[in-house]
Amino acid sequence: MTLLLGVALGGRTVLLVGGGEVAGRRARRLLDEGARVRVVAPRLDPVLADLAARGRITWTPRTYRRRDLRGAWLVHAATGRPAVDRQVAADCERRRLLCTNASQAGHGTARLAAQTTAGDVAVGVVSAVGADPRRSMAVRDGISLLLAEGALPLQPRRPAASGSVALVGGGPGPLDLLTVRARRLLAEADVVVADRLGPGEAVAEILGARTRIIPVGKHPGHHPVPQAEINRILVEEASAGHRVVRLKGGDPFVLGRGGEEYTACLAAGIAVDVVPGITSAIAVPQAAGIPVTQRGTATALHVVSGHDALGPLGASPATLAALADPAVTTIVLMGVAALPGLVGAALEHGVPAARPVAVVENGHTPQQRTTRTTLGEAERAVREAGVRSPAVVVIGEVAREGLLLPVPLTAPAAGTATPGPTTPRELIT
Ligand code: SAH
Repeated sequence: MTLLLGVALGGRTVLLVGGGEVAGRRARRLLDEGARVRVVAPRLDPVLADLAARGRITWTPRTYRRRDLRGAWLVHAATGRPAVDRQVAADCERRRLLCTNASQAGHGTARLAAQTTAGDVAVGVVSAVGADPRRSMAVRDGISLLLAEGALPLQPRRPAASGSVALVGGGPGPLDLLTVRARRLLAEADVVVADRLGPGEAVAEILGARTRIIPVGKHPGHHPVPQAEINRILVEEASAGHRVVRLKGGDPFVLGRGGEEYTACLAAGIAVDVVPGITSAIAVPQAAGIPVTQRGTATALHVVSGHDALGPLGASPATLAALADPAVTTIVLMGVAALPGLVGAALEHGVPAARPVAVVENGHTPQQRTTRTTLGEAERAVREAGVRSPAVVVIGEVAREGLLLPVPLTAPAAGTATPGPTTPRELIT
């Protein structure tokens, strides 16, 4: 039978007997753990030779002698010669030293586990009886995946030594559009400070029972929590030693004020990390079948907030230039209220009234709805459809209905109506 131990090897000497490939792999792993590695072997394989040349390990270039065991906490026998490995194991036994033995002939007194870590959790897998390293690795890989996805109960039971904040991009809404890293951080969190947009409070169903959710998004009939107050909550919770996830819609650094939250944490001396998310600027048009760039149609992207697209001086020169360029797609977030003003400015600037416009509400949710129109018609179409926030406005040739439909290979017979897409042939390459 086998008792798994977590051994702290930092600064402690481990002796590797043998200089081959297996010993090389072990050396790397032991060095990662902070161990001091000594190798006894007449020759070294390239990995070990390189480590020795760089002074990362010490090398005694000869065959094994019993006195090599002096000073070691752990010994690994991997000479490729079962008789020598057995001898090393027997010498260790006599000296009550733990010994791992890589040879098929015997297993020494210890075995290295197939190991994986997720955050600060380490999991090791060994066979209780005998050895089957490939199976141990397969089991390890399975557990590793579950840990990475946050599918296991990772929430710590003891307070962290110090609190922290992770600014996590939650994507446009569905839980399966969260990144794997976001899932793990959510599983580990003590506190989740959630927006309304993106996954919002729906993450409750994947959180540990003890995780608290603090909603700070705007709810119907409620005022949004002011940014300064959100910053204060983040700092206060982390200062109390909590692992805080600030779950934001889309990506934290795309028109989401993530930068301000980051700075507020730094200013308060709080450890802060950022996890990217799928931004609605790209994913919401995509949900409506609109590629934000398309070879031969649009090769650049201009993303702007509706609040800023129309400053006191009207639309910014950069936005007007983007709108005027048929090869640029303009994406407006928070743009429903600003749309009429923006359309007026664009038309005045000489942007063709026929420029396609699509407005996608509630992308990636069951309430998703797309309104297709043109610049000239946009104000009326959006009013008549009763378009509401949250919505992403797409202005540009990629918003043309049927852009991605295949063009018929054979020309229709003369006199018949043209079936299929409305996309002009020259827009597809
Ligand atoms: N950081 C976020 C954007 C925050 S600004 C991101 O990267 O996605 C908020 C705006 O995002 C909304 O006003 C709307 O324009 C857009 N938005 C976010 N989620 C949306 C969704 N599911 N459907 C439509 N628009 C959405």
